[in-house]
Amino acid sequence: MTKSRQSGYYKAVRRVSSLISNTDKELHEILDGIVRSTARALTASASLLLLDSERKNLIHVSSWGLPKSFILKGILDPGKSLKEVETSKPVIISDVTSDDRVQYPETVNKSGIRSVMAVPILIDGKPAGSIRVYTREVYEFTNQDLNFVSTIANLTSMAIDNHILRDMTVQIRREADRVVNPSALSYARPAVFAHPSEKEFSQILDFYDIEWIYEPRSFPISWENDRITEMFTPDFYLPGLDLFIELTTMKQSLVTIKNRKVRRLQELHPDINITLLYKKDYDRLLAKFGYGPLAESRGRGVAKVLYSSAEIQNRVKELANQISAEYQGHNPVMVGVLRGVFCFMADLVRQITIPVVVDFMTISYFRSGTSSKAHVTKDINLSVEGKPVILVEDIVDTGLTLNYIIRHLKEKGVSDLAVCALFDKKARRIANVPLRYRGFTIPDEFIIGYGLDFKEEYRNLPFVGILGKNSESSLSRSGNEKNSK
Ligand code: 5GP
Repeated sequence: MTKSRQSGYYKAVRRVSSLISNTDKELHEILDGIVRSTARALTASASLLLLDSERKNLIHVSSWGLPKSFILKGILDPGKSLKEVETSKPVIISDVTSDDRVQYPETVNKSGIRSVMAVPILIDGKPAGSIRVYTREVYEFTNQDLNFVSTIANLTSMAIDNHILRDMTVQIRREADRVVNPSALSYARPAVFAHPSEKEFSQILDFYDIEWIYEPRSFPISWENDRITEMFTPDFYLPGLDLFIELTTMKQSLVTIKNRKVRRLQELHPDINITLLYKKDYDRLLAKFGYGPLAESRGRGVAKVLYSSAEIQNRVKELANQISAEYQGHNPVMVGVLRGVFCFMADLVRQITIPVVVDFMTISYFRSGTSSKAHVTKDINLSVEGKPVILVEDIVDTGLTLNYIIRHLKEKGVSDLAVCALFDKKARRIANVPLRYRGFTIPDEFIIGYGLDFKEEYRNLPFVGILGKNSESSLSRSGNEKNSK
């Protein structure tokens, strides 16, 4: 063992000992410090897991240097995941890619982890949890490494014991049940929705093939001394987008309360992404599928011109110049998403001065009974493997459509994928999609013209306008028929 590694161990043990004797610290602060010191001493990543109150699941209580996707991967079963807790014996795996003691091999592979050492934490001789250390290169853990982590595990059990002595058993259990792992409860049981709108929303997410967890996790948001007095449980967590969503579709009187809760959560956890989906946003989303009140509304003509034909043409020319300069010598494939894009695509490509090829695809909104899946009704004909692609869209609203199409095109092995959207309705974004070229950032209004329709009308207007009051958006159709953009 190198001298510097040895002195790193001493330092870590000293730091952890002083942490656990500090009676001002909360248990979760001590556990965070233990994990951080362990990871740093081994120049690795680390996590601390505790058995939940039923002793059935292992929950990530603290971690250092691990991707969120890894922490959120699901409930760990002490009988399936490494088994150091079940057997009360350390487990060392040099290459996790070929070892069946890993419960979620796919997630582990994706996160780039190669070697793991897991050491149980025993309290009163019984397993209570574990400390795990992970490296991204294949690494043969030494006896000294094992002795060091075992010492840390003993110190951890002392820290927990101290808190038990201070009559804090309940808090530990609560910590294990609530912290870090949003999937703790949700993966274990099917979602029981509190309100039909939540069920509908989950179906929309299914449609876009977006993974979701219902009521993933409860966050304490107010305390009186040490007692938690208020919790907040967002309705959904979308692991792929790392986004919590709270729906405000039920009583509008609750909106202010929800707003306050969301703000409080953001103050306490600035690293957490959370979006409040208002009734209006939600109704628009539903309308695309032929549900909800907006699906029935009727257009009453143009209330206001937002961009004149000349303004649009000028901006399209600027975008074309930018693309021509940046793609010089690259011959990109321009893929348009029909039908709204047809005017924009036609004007854009005619202003581009470098060689490009053009193709189109269509996706449809399709509802059948209660289940639906996003559907590419017309795929591109050209091969895009190894080629740069510019995806051309009329308008990005929630971003869910684009998110779906980007994933679809990436699967075809494009070398570089850029998105060019004429209109960006930023205020209503759910999926954070990257736009390399943006024509106009527009207000949160439903627009028509220049290819964009309301119930198939208005596409041929040369300008872009806002529809009259009460003539809200919809690409809605009724029954089981297909809705094409
Ligand atoms: P997203 O999936 O980003 O919510 O929706 C994108 C699609 O919804 C667009 O490609 C377009 O077909 C439709 N859309 C969104 N906002 C508007 C709008 O203001 N006007 C029109 N006509 N269609 C819209």
